Amino acid sequence: MEHTIENKLKKADKAFNDWKNISFEDRQKLIKEASEIFKNKAKDFAEIITKEMNKPISQSISEVEKCATMMEYYAEVQNILQPEKIDSEFSISEIHYVPKGVLLGVMPWNFPFWQVLRFATPAILAGNTVVLKHASICFGSGNAIEKVFLEAGFPEGIFQNLEVGHKEVKEILEHSSIKAVSLTGSERAGAEVASIAGQKIKKSLLELGGSDAFIVLDDADLDEAANVGALARLQNCGQTCVAAKRFIIQKEIEFEFLPKFIQEYKKYIPGDPMKMETKLTGMARPDLADDLEKQYKKALDNGAEAIIPLERISDTEFNPGLITVKKGNPILTEELFGPLGMIMIAGNDDEALEMANNIPFGLSNSVWTRNEKRQQFFINGLESGTVNINRMTSSDPRFPFGGTKSSGYGTELSLLALKEFVTAKTILGK
Ligand code: NAP
Repeated sequence: MEHTIENKLKKADKAFNDWKNISFEDRQKLIKEASEIFKNKAKDFAEIITKEMNKPISQSISEVEKCATMMEYYAEVQNILQPEKIDSEFSISEIHYVPKGVLLGVMPWNFPFWQVLRFATPAILAGNTVVLKHASICFGSGNAIEKVFLEAGFPEGIFQNLEVGHKEVKEILEHSSIKAVSLTGSERAGAEVASIAGQKIKKSLLELGGSDAFIVLDDADLDEAANVGALARLQNCGQTCVAAKRFIIQKEIEFEFLPKFIQEYKKYIPGDPMKMETKLTGMARPDLADDLEKQYKKALDNGAEAIIPLERISDTEFNPGLITVKKGNPILTEELFGPLGMIMIAGNDDEALEMANNIPFGLSNSVWTRNEKRQQFFINGLESGTVNINRMTSSDPRFPFGGTKSSGYGTELSLLALKEFVTAKTILGK
């Protein structure tokens, strides 16, 4: 292992020895300081994001502001990690929550600040220290986040960015200093990293891909569903794990809903990422655009029909595409991570539910109906970490976030995230 990386791991380990003894409330004060810096310098950080991965600048600003809001939430949460006294026949009868130590975060480029801080904030508040292996195109974001932690007054070694490629993850994860790993990214990377962690008996948390359904039933507000649906598919150029990727439309409203949806969809035209009015930009890397084009062809070769053709206009830019897909098309087992949406037509609620669930993933589905019984039917039946009624997915720090099936395991956000990287230690005595 490279000397500088080895040194950073040692530094993280050393920092942990002191950090674990700092009070929850003192850690919260520092998190509050960091949240202020993110809030006050949101535009500067947003520029780093946009330059690195092409996100429209207005969406980059929102991403940084959302980080500040999330950190503010953790700066004020109740301390659920205090020792708990349990009523029992023992005179000493307690549960203590002990931080694990140095955690490795392996993070993606699509939300370069949010994904990192969503994992790191509760982990650090719980008393752990963090080293980050960011996506190879986002080292600038990783370094900027490290600087904020230092500027906020966190001791050195609490949060460090490692500028390493994915080939180095194995050796780092196997290092004795690293106690657990959290990965947000593709299924392929998640499976590989979790198997390395498993070999070394280290805990892993995985936030992976999705192909979420956006189900529109015949009693929905179709204008709003069309408007929100286009945003849910195309924000961040369609490169969002919880983007609506499959639009399951009830047959009776197909010809009423689709023209409205197409009209909204066509408002997304690629523009200059640095202009505030731009809603759509190119994808993050040309090879990702190549992959999306291949998937588009695969879908068409297997019977999908283009409602709006996916049109490549530069190495990374597309005019967004929309295709109708029928059950059995192998494209349904894949995640479309770009500006290409799928339409499926369902005969009734049972079929809509069956279509929504019949994929390998389960992140965050959305259902549009005003009828409470129908809402309940989908709330109970949908296999996903989140169900949204008459709204698109957007995570909220107060609520847990995580997937089922191949979308991963473990919980981020909310109070529950504070307990992801601690050991519950039982203390009993007479
Ligand atoms: P990715 O290619 O899996 O990369 C994610 C991170 O894993 C990067 O830091 C990458 O490093 C690293 N990595 C890649 N292959 C690896 C391997 N074999 N061993 C160890 N590390 C490896 O994913 P991405 O393209 O950046 O992100 C898009 C994916 O993330 C999509 O599937 C999306 O749905 C998912 N995602 C999920 C969530 C969620 O919360 N569930 C949120 C956001 C994104 P390099 O850059 O050096 O290759």
